[in-house]
Amino acid sequence: LKKADYHIHTVLSHHAEGSMEDTVRAALAAGLDEMGFSDHLPFPKPRSGPSWNIEPDEYPKYVDEVLRLRKAYPQIAIRLAVEADFFPDCLPRLRELLAQAPLDYVVGSVHYLGMGPGLALHAESKRDWGVDSPEEQGEWANQDVDRVYVEYFRQMRLAAESGLFQVMGHVDLPKKFGQFPRGDLTLEYARTAESFKKAGVVVELNTAGLRKRCKEIYPSPGLLKAFRTQGVPITFGSDAHAPADVAKGFDAAAVLARSAGYEEVHVWKAPGVFGPEKLA
Ligand SMILES: [Zn+2]
Ligand SMILES: [Zn+2]
Repeated sequence: LKKADYHIHTVLSHHAEGSMEDTVRAALAAGLDEMGFSDHLPFPKPRSGPSWNIEPDEYPKYVDEVLRLRKAYPQIAIRLAVEADFFPDCLPRLRELLAQAPLDYVVGSVHYLGMGPGLALHAESKRDWGVDSPEEQGEWANQDVDRVYVEYFRQMRLAAESGLFQVMGHVDLPKKFGQFPRGDLTLEYARTAESFKKAGVVVELNTAGLRKRCKEIYPSPGLLKAFRTQGVPITFGSDAHAPADVAKGFDAAAVLARSAGYEEVHVWKAPGVFGPEKLA
């Protein structure tokens, strides 16, 4: 039985701590057989503040360090991955960027939402809302909570259907600061699960939510049930931004997976390919 954490950040994205080597040691100490570095791809999304991505000129350094650590620590399988933001208008550029390194897989994420009616989400737009940014939480006052979720899931489906990602990251991220859906989103959940199944992507049980105000794994139990119903597979990811967070909350993730009816977890098999293992 493999214990794997597929969502781990590094100091190179400016908002994490500990060296990459410390992170590998923490993974070993946590008893992991496998880990995947998945830092933020240097995609040029402009922000008002500092970027949350690896700097473009530091990306080769990131790749080299993962490959070096893979050789230096043969006792743990170390995968090279990135977490990439999805924008409907960025696919050619994204495809190009993803081809620049021998990536084992890509975590597809949505962190930004197009604002206002008829305003398309745009990689160069400064008006897009960083829905999980602590500085941008005031925007909720202008938004209908459930409409935010509907739009978020729409972006997620487009991301899954793009074919560029194998793992879908924190699929109900808008709840991070405690804004949970209010109405019944059952149909929206089912649509999203159907789309993910068709696209052949895996959903991560992202335990970072346990450490945020929402105090809940992404996805929520109801949403995870919808994925289970459609047969969408799962992986585990801590979204660690510090060595101490590697594999954190994985016992809770296993409990959640079982309660939704999962008996298997997916692990990395080959570049871009995940396959089933029995849940520990
Ligand atoms: Zn993320
Ligand atoms: Zn992340």
